[in-house]
Amino acid sequence: MSDHDDETQKDTSVIVVGGGPAGLSAALFTKKNGLETTVFDTDSTWMHKAHLFNYLGIGSVGGSEFMATARQQVDDFGVDRRQGEEVTAVEPGDHEFTVETDAGSYEADYVILATGANRDIAEDLECAFTDEDVVDVGVDMETSVDGVYATGAMVRPEEWQAAIAVGDGAAAALNILSTVRGEYYHDFDVPADAARLFGEQLAE
Ligand SMILES: Cc1cc2nc3c(=O)[nH]c(=O)nc-3n(C[C@H](O)[C@H](O)[C@H](O)COP(=O)(O)OP(=O)(O)OC[C@H]3O[C@@H](n4cnc5c(N)ncnc54)[C@H](O)[C@@H]3O)c2cc1C
Repeated sequence: MSDHDDETQKDTSVIVVGGGPAGLSAALFTKKNGLETTVFDTDSTWMHKAHLFNYLGIGSVGGSEFMATARQQVDDFGVDRRQGEEVTAVEPGDHEFTVETDAGSYEADYVILATGANRDIAEDLECAFTDEDVVDVGVDMETSVDGVYATGAMVRPEEWQAAIAVGDGAAAALNILSTVRGEYYHDFDVPADAARLFGEQLAE
């Protein structure tokens, strides 16, 4: 990657609306790979009602416990997680989006919607909906509005599972990273990366 690419990436900002599995997954990927990332969340995630036995790689975990680990993970990578701050509007501009909350206004190049089954913001942004009345996206989670992505429960009529939401968030983030870099982006880590990040804390 050239210095110019580095600069472009550093200046790119992403706002994620909703901090359930979809939103935090998206935020993890964008921030971990160098994009300025803010998440707004009002903590009404369905995960507080769930207990996971069907999330591959995790035997059994309470939904709230899963969320606590996920929040810690994104915090560790430096995501600006604004817990309890509700997004009231998203306004498209010429080059950026303005995201309004009760506490202030924020600018971002990309917006990832991850508001669970609540599709109000997508509707206000005039994103296209399917015949089944969910936000219309493809496998990259791009909506019909340039720069706006939709993920998780809002893009499916009923197939609501944490593992699917997490995958949606990752797909949206990778699409943004590929767009910013101008080539397909892979977030591939290897054991040496773990040693570099965690050093002596790694289990023997
Ligand atoms: C009773 C129950 C049991 C379940 N059991 C399982 C299970 O065993 N396994 C499984 O895989 N799935 C289970 N699920 C489903 C799972 O919880 C969902 O698939 C998952 O939570 C969807 O993730 P999401 O990120 O799309 O939405 P959510 O988890 O709903 O997160 C959306 C977040 O966005 C926030 N938000 C919304 N609007 C705004 C706004 N304007 N500004 C800021 N924040 C906002 C909300 O407060 C919320 O925190 C269960 C669900 C329920 C209800």
